[in-house]
Amino acid sequence: MLAYENKQFCKCLERPPLRAALRQLWDEIVELIHTPSLDELSDCTFTLGRLLGSLSGQRYIKMPFDKKHWIKIEARMKFHGCVRSPQHLRSGQCPSA
Ligand SMILES: [Zn+2]
Repeated sequence: MLAYENKQFCKCLERPPLRAALRQLWDEIVELIHTPSLDELSDCTFTLGRLLGSLSGQRYIKMPFDKKHWIKIEARMKFHGCVRSPQHLRSGQCPSA
């Protein structure tokens, strides 16, 4: 488990390699274009925070509009112990455990 701002998260939230962070940001931008919403904007800025964190050797850089995403992954942690959405779990478990 990883701690961030006094909360516990699974290892999926570890600092991603630069290439993976870039890919994640691209995927989120595509989703935002296809279904514009505050939810998707929040996913996008969160992913940008991960990319900027990766570039600067930190796990995450705080971004505007990211709160909605943080609330979402905190709920996922409580519900199934992983920050990922259910379709990205492995047999219902965190793939990084
Ligand atoms: Zn996980």
